This record gives sequence, C-alpha cells and structure tokens, in this order.
Amino acid sequence: SNIVAIVGRPNVGKSTLYNRLTESRKAIVDDFSGVTRDRHYGVAEWTDHPFTVIDTGGYVANSDDVFEAAIREQVVIAVEEASIILFVVDVTTGITDLDDEIAVLLRRSKKPVFVVVNKVDNHNQQADATVFYGFGLGEIYNISSMTGSGTGELLDEVVKHFEDVPLEDSTRPKYAIVGRPNVGKSSIINSLIGSQRNIVTPVAGTTRDSIHIHYNQYGHDFMLIDTAGMRKKTKVKENIEFYSVMRTIKALEEADVIILMIDAVEGFEAQDMNIFHLAEKNKKGIVIVVNKWDLIEKNNKTIKVFEEMIREKTAPFTDVPIVFTSVTEKQRVLKVIDVANQVYANRARKITTSKLNDVMLPIIENYPPPSLKGKYVKIKYITQIAGSSPMFAFFCNLPQYIKEPYYRFIENKLRENFELSGAPVQVWFRQK
Ligand code: GDP
Repeated sequence: SNIVAIVGRPNVGKSTLYNRLTESRKAIVDDFSGVTRDRHYGVAEWTDHPFTVIDTGGYVANSDDVFEAAIREQVVIAVEEASIILFVVDVTTGITDLDDEIAVLLRRSKKPVFVVVNKVDNHNQQADATVFYGFGLGEIYNISSMTGSGTGELLDEVVKHFEDVPLEDSTRPKYAIVGRPNVGKSSIINSLIGSQRNIVTPVAGTTRDSIHIHYNQYGHDFMLIDTAGMRKKTKVKENIEFYSVMRTIKALEEADVIILMIDAVEGFEAQDMNIFHLAEKNKKGIVIVVNKWDLIEKNNKTIKVFEEMIREKTAPFTDVPIVFTSVTEKQRVLKVIDVANQVYANRARKITTSKLNDVMLPIIENYPPPSLKGKYVKIKYITQIAGSSPMFAFFCNLPQYIKEPYYRFIENKLRENFELSGAPVQVWFRQK
C-alpha cells in the first residue's frame, strides 16, 4: 500500500499541497457528493501510480498547549503507518525549532523522507532553500504549491519509491473492518474469533501489529484485517482519530471488501462518508454494518427509515448491503460475514458479452442517450473489461456526448439486472 503522508508544522502549506495532489480526482468524483469539507485524505495519481495521500495538518488539536505535542505525535504515527513521508517546510521562515524537532523524528525513521521546501517562487528563494540541507535528510525539493511548480519533479521521485503490494495470500478474500473509534470493531472481531483463538493466525510479515487474522471455520476461509486491535496510547484526543484514519486507509488498500461499521446511535456521519468514498474510489466492495442496534427504540419502520437515510447519502451507489447488528446481543454477527462473501463474489462477477447485450441493448433502445446538437449516440455493443472489479465498455459512435446522468442511468440498470450489490461498477463509453 502506498500511503504518502504530508507532515510539517502549521502554516507551511500542507493542505495546499494536499489539494494539489488530490485535485484532479476530486473534481471528478466529488462534484455531486456534497462532502468536500473535512477531508484530509484522498486518492491521487501520478504517471499511472495511484496512491493515498493524507494531510496530517487536518488532525491537529485546537488548543495551544496540546498543539506541539499533537504534531510530534502525528509525525510518529505517520512515520509508522505511511510508506512515504513528505516533510514540508517554508522557505520564507527558514528552519524553526519545531522543524528541527520533526527532523529529529524523521531521521530516526527508516521510511523514505522527502524534504519539500514550499513557497519557493523565485531565484533568491532557491538560494535560501539550501539551508534545509542542514536537516541531513538528503535531497530537497523546491516547490510552490500555489503555482504548482516543482510538484511534478517531486512526484517523479516519490513514485520511484512505491512498492508493489506483496501478493501474500492473494487467493483468500480479504475483509477489512473499519469505522470510527468505539463503533464496535474490536467487539465484532472478538465475537467472531473470541472463543476460538486457535483459528487466529497472524500472517508473517505484518509486523508486531499482526492485523491480518486468518478465519477458517464453518466453511469460511478468509482474512480479516483488523484496524482496532492495536491502539495507540495517547493523551491527545484528536490523535486517536488520526491513528484510526491511518489504519483505515492502510486496511482499505489491502482489502477486497470493506466492512464499514457505524454506531446506530450516532448515525452515518461525515467521517463515515469519507471512508465510504475512499472505498469507492479504491474500487472496493462495501458492506455497511449498523451496530448497537439494541440501543435504538424501534418500530416496524425504523429499519426502513435508517436505510433510506444512508442511501440518500451514498447515492448513486445505492445498493450497498446494510446489516443491522448488535454485537453485545449476538444479533446478525455471522450475517455480516455471509454478506461480505456475497459482495466479494459480486465484485469478482464476470458477465458474458451475450448476456450483457441481451439485457442492456433493449433497455438502451427504449431509453437512448439524449441527442446533442441534433446528433444521436448509437450504442452498438457492450462488453465487460477484465479487472479486479466490474468494468463495462459501451461501444458507440460519439462517446464524448454521453453525460453524467446517462452514466448513472446505465449503472442503475446494470445493478438492477445483474447481481452486483455492494460492488463498485465502472462504466466506460468508447468509440467503436
Ligand atoms: P472499536 O473502537 O470500534 O473497536 O469499539 P469497541 O469494540 O471497543 O466497542 C466500544 C464500546 O461499545 C464497548 O464498550 C462495547 O462494549 C460497546 N459495544 C460494541 N458493540 C455493541 C453493541 O452492539 N451494542 C451495545 N450496546 N454496545 C456495544
């Protein structure tokens, strides 16, 4: 998993750099999602290398006394969890005490660290930037995240350090249990494996955290990726969330299916939505688990109301399975696994070209893409493209004329007619 963490003291320009790295993807996906606020991690891409980037600045405490401690701690967490660190400093201030402190932590790490000197807008500043060689962290990269200059050269170097994800256990499904702190992740894992500790096999190479658990009973055989097991002891409340976000991103990159747990009492919040989007962008299968269902006062409409509330937020991806559980009362815990298996199968589903065309061409005939400037789009045939998640190519004469609503229409029809619930679906229109 390639996680790039942006660290540095406040006001050096971390979030501007973050926005620059993630903006292209953002423009495509977030236009209609309505949740651009509060997002400090996202998917970026450079020369065909996708990676996750995290802006550590988004997780800093507000009050002054915990401020420096929080930053130091975040750097430690980032160093542990990320694969590459971008250490951002500001050429206009030179090296500050806090920069020095951060550099000390980074020198101890074994991870690749890139010293990124921001706000370098002219030649004089290029000369000034050389003081940052004083960190002893190697090469420095001058950028201006306002204008974007230098980021290309930086990313060219960064992607050289990416590792291909090792295909350890590539045949077994991998399910990651993710969610905000206290939603019940540890509880469900304990409930699944608790009395049978012997079925738990930490996989070699996952370091002391051993967050991969091999589950093999009742005819099931899969890996559980646990994001709750190892918990950082921290006095800084905000960093509990930061740590959980780092773990979530990591688990998410490795998993096939994301089991997103939410707390029934708290509902589906912005943070849950962020995780959902990240899973979606990473083309993972998704199951939503609404836990602590025992704490909700219910009548025969409650489930429906709750479901609709979630569906509204996750649109247009509206057929994600939702399971209502109470881990403490052992309600529907195993159902979560059955549903995850189902989503795994849906994500791997292959639909034959003849079946696709038999089903979809008549639908398209009845609801063709709207004509544009008097021109008509004619869709000739459809085929599934090989990949780890369902992708469909619709061959036609004028692919550039197809607009967003028609993409959604097609996705909905695919979901209605084929068993794809919980699986990401990509639709492409291509010239014949
Ligand atoms: P994690 O941080 O997501 O791993 O959450 P934990 O598994 O540590 O659970 C947090 C708290 O919620 C604990 O006190 C659990 O006992 C409680 N809890 C977990 N599941 C349920 C549930 O289904 N119902 C109720 N009432 N409490 C639960």
